[in-house]
Amino acid sequence: MDISTLGQLRVQLQREHDRILAELKAIATPSASAPGQWDASYPKFEEEESGSHADRDNEEDEVEEYEERIGAKSSLASQLLTITHALERIEHGAYGTCKRCHNPIPLERLLANPAAEYDIAHEPL
Ligand SMILES: [Zn+2]
Repeated sequence: MDISTLGQLRVQLQREHDRILAELKAIATPSASAPGQWDASYPKFEEEESGSHADRDNEEDEVEEYEERIGAKSSLASQLLTITHALERIEHGAYGTCKRCHNPIPLERLLANPAAEYDIAHEPL
């Protein structure tokens, strides 16, 4: 792979990394106990009206939103990890080879998904 193509993929990965990190920060905070893990932050909605009925509705909405955040942050955190690993492989000069068979991953595949870790034969289902 030539240097300019590698540079282009690196920029793409870095952009994707920043985008996902921003999304993740909006709904979660980095875990204090487990590095690389994220904890969904509990949403606090504005209370529009006073009274116990409105409070309870708000609370239900918050719980629902919180559950959605837990699912979303898991998926974002794993995407972020995959991209971080791809960037690390670029740093170490090990980028673009299949993790299973160590054959080069086809360039068109990397262009479509710069964080690809496997060639077509070994992509896990
Ligand atoms: Zn392979």
